[in-house]
Amino acid sequence: MRIALGIFGHEANSFSPHMADMEDFGARRLNRGYAVLANLQGVRIEEAGAMSVFAALPDCEVAPLLAARAMSSAPLRRETFAALLDELLARLRAALPVQGVFLVLHGAMMSEDEPDATGRVLDEVRRIVGNGVPVVGTLDLHANVTPRMVRAATALVGYHTAPHIDLYETGERAARILVGAIRGELRPTMALARLPMILPAENARHTDGPLAEVLALVLRAEAAGEILHGSVYPVQPWLDTSDVRSSVLIVTDGDPEGARERAMAVAAAFWARRHDFVPELIAPEDAVQCALARESGMVVFCDSSDATTSGSTGDSTVVLQALLRAAPLSVTALLNIVDPPVVAQAITAGVGAELTVQVGGKLAPAFFQPVEFTGYIKTISDGVFRFKGPGMRGVEHRMGRTVVLVQGGIHLVVMERAVSQWDPQLYRSLGLEPADARIVQVKSPAAFRAAYGPLADEIMIIRAIGPATPLFSALPWRHLGRPIYPLDPDVSYTLQVTNGRGEDQNGPG
Ligand SMILES: [Zn+2]
Repeated sequence: MRIALGIFGHEANSFSPHMADMEDFGARRLNRGYAVLANLQGVRIEEAGAMSVFAALPDCEVAPLLAARAMSSAPLRRETFAALLDELLARLRAALPVQGVFLVLHGAMMSEDEPDATGRVLDEVRRIVGNGVPVVGTLDLHANVTPRMVRAATALVGYHTAPHIDLYETGERAARILVGAIRGELRPTMALARLPMILPAENARHTDGPLAEVLALVLRAEAAGEILHGSVYPVQPWLDTSDVRSSVLIVTDGDPEGARERAMAVAAAFWARRHDFVPELIAPEDAVQCALARESGMVVFCDSSDATTSGSTGDSTVVLQALLRAAPLSVTALLNIVDPPVVAQAITAGVGAELTVQVGGKLAPAFFQPVEFTGYIKTISDGVFRFKGPGMRGVEHRMGRTVVLVQGGIHLVVMERAVSQWDPQLYRSLGLEPADARIVQVKSPAAFRAAYGPLADEIMIIRAIGPATPLFSALPWRHLGRPIYPLDPDVSYTLQVTNGRGEDQNGPG
């Protein structure tokens, strides 16, 4: 059997000022043809998991098409989306005939003129291969799953974890369903139940809390063999477009009615827990005082409003300002910020030199302001490091040229480009040890907990307004479909159920 493999993923944030272009894909992952499959050894991502399944089959040949991933930001530029989609489709046409298509997607990708970019990718792929060829896609747990995606795909398979630590396993699961469908051993049928709610990411975890309780319902059904796959999607909430929903997607084997009933039941349990997703926040000044009052231990400042993996710019100065007000510090605080001009200034000045700069707050002026910082230049680095923790293990990250500026206990990492903050290797690659610090700033709402959890004695979620703030009512929404929870707290329970045959029904209100 011959399977086409494509990767096209991005997580949109409508409040980010920066639209993703080709350079952003180049900075993260942009590979073509067989380069898509290079360097997957030991890397815990979807395509590596899928390849482990395909490689174990005696008769399976994989045709790698294109791999395109970029850091989360504002939607893709129109021409960037068109160019990448055209290339993916041209490579698919050239790879025909294929018996199946495997797509690694995100599900919260938007472009300037296509709010459901993932649905568009699936539609176009379906158009090329026809109805007889199975098309299976993987999705991030924060996908905005639409009826269009469900109609176009044979099966969609989502993560079961937040923090996301099962990318590889999701690839394996999806690949097994694809192979089963190609062989005619499985007849995947899907039902999608959508709810009018967007949820903050901080409390959406598989380890404990409301999401864990809802996920347990689908995991139990999977383990009992009642469904092929189930996933719960608390959606990337910062998508300012009309059709955004949290959802539950159930995949059964030849049982559309069973999928529908299960999706509705799990969605009802999900809806019932919506208030439990609201996180407890602490003002930055209070967080600093609490951390300084401790005798010992390390406190993670979860600076989620500036989460780079949620689409923020990574140059908030809110925590830095609070620390500077408390300076001089008798303890170590590790912070990081995106500011290419300051990196250039520091490199010109050289290691050991002292420098006064206006740092941060330049990329998203609607949210953040620059702050004056004086420090000496401790480190200059190429900014390349590799994740070692449970999430994205083995994946290389490039933050561009990077410097460490030090003022007393404040160690400020200044980088040219935003990267994922899931892993303490960001600091360790620069000779800074988070476990030895009192305060460590991490710009991620929840995913950081997998690697930082064992190091942290306490985690404080900082109250701030940025492109990825959990305080949704503070954001300038323009297009979001209303009513929706929590902006309209009294919105009634409406459920939109879609199956793969394209039949939509409204569930119980
Ligand atoms: Zn996610």
